[in-house]
This record gives sequence, structure tokens and C-alpha cells, in this order.
Amino acid sequence: MSLIFVPLERLFFLRRQRFLRPGLKTDLAHYGFNHLLMGGIFFLIALPAEWVRKRYFIDAVPHFIQSLPLWLQVVLILFIADFCQYFVHRAFHTSPILWQFHKIHHSVPQMDWLASSRLHVIDVIVTRAISYIPIVWLGFSLDAVHIYLPIVAIQALFVHSNFRYGFGGLRYGLTTPLVHHWHHSSEEPALDKNFAVTFSIIDVIFGTFYCPRNWPEKYGLHGEEISESFVKQLLFPFLKVLKK
Ligand SMILES: [Zn+2]
Ligand SMILES: [Zn+2]
Repeated sequence: MSLIFVPLERLFFLRRQRFLRPGLKTDLAHYGFNHLLMGGIFFLIALPAEWVRKRYFIDAVPHFIQSLPLWLQVVLILFIADFCQYFVHRAFHTSPILWQFHKIHHSVPQMDWLASSRLHVIDVIVTRAISYIPIVWLGFSLDAVHIYLPIVAIQALFVHSNFRYGFGGLRYGLTTPLVHHWHHSSEEPALDKNFAVTFSIIDVIFGTFYCPRNWPEKYGLHGEEISESFVKQLLFPFLKVLKK
């Protein structure tokens, strides 16, 4: 990922950034922690999907899905996973309890590809576990899943990146960095907008799309402050929820 994004952001940066930018240490800690932990608890994330598949298995469904061309299966996975992700993401914004966990992601002071890793572990587990349910139940071919995974990983990083091009009207269909930068903006009209990570058309359909042609001026939390300490970011949502 560094091989792709470091040169990309050096050549086509939106804002000139110091290498040791504010918040970098915290984002790196989230990156390491989430990746290590995800390897260890993957079975937990896949558990709900496995349960649904076993309980509601219909033989004809994976049979039909696997008869589709590989490219179509990949597009379908991308869309279905993003469709689920949209509603989970929206719930993380609207539920006061879930927001305590998701606000960690919105506390990034500066946007770049590494800022995407600042995610609370509960956020990652819930979002992935729910998005996997339809993919596993529908029974896509493993080849399609293997193509989907790197695409979605790169896309998730790309939309956060410090990359200057806006891609014009494409932003009404696909989530571009401009669209997701607005999701991270603390400016009033952009609050609780742009939940899709791949297909912004989902936001257009559900009336949650907001993306002027210019880039946001202000990023981060709206009227809230959060410690930059990784440990505090990990623990604080639990403490907040217990207090409620
Ligand atoms: Zn969000
Ligand atoms: Zn984000």
C-alpha cells in the first residue's frame, strides 16, 4: 500500500503535508493493532455469516451466482458489500452508542491514506461481520472474493488519500476522495452525509449525498474533542457507553 500511496500523494497532493504529520503515530498504532487483531479474530467476524448460511442455505442460490461471469460477481460483491456497509455506517452515525465508537474515525486531523486506519476495533468488527453475511449466503466463487478484497482495500485507502483530483461528475456514481473528504468534514451541511465507500450512487438514492466541487476547509469532529492517545481512543468509547 505504501508503494502505491506514498508516490501518489507526493506527486498529486491536495495539501502539502509534513512526513511526520499530526496524528500519524496514532493512525499507525490503529493500523498495526487492527491488522494484528483481525488476523486473530477473523473467525469471530465470519461467525454471523456462517450461521446465516447454514440456517438459510438454498442450494440454487450459490449455483446461480457461480454461473455468472467472474467480473459480474466481483461487481455484485462490491455493490452488495457497500450497500450493507452504507446502513451499518449510517447507524454508527445516528445511534448515540455506536457514534461513541465511530467518532474515533472522524477525529483524524488531516486526511491521507493512513488516516483510513483510524477505526475503533468495534467499528471494524461490526461493519465487516454484517457486510459478509450476504456475500457468504449468496455463495460467490472464491476467485471473485479474492479479486474483490484487494480492490476494496485499495478503494478504502484511496478515498481518504491526500489526492487532488475531483473526478468531475463521476462522484455521483462512485465514491471519490472528494466525496469521502466531505464525509470527514466538520462543516455543517456535510454532517452525516456520504456513507458509501465505493458507490456514492447509494447516497444519491437515499438522499445522503453532499459533494460540492470544492474541497472542505475543516475536518474532524463537530464541536467535540478527542485525545490523540491510541490507548485512550481504544478505551474511551467503552467508558462513555458504560456511563450512559
Ligand atoms: Zn462516518
Ligand atoms: Zn473515512
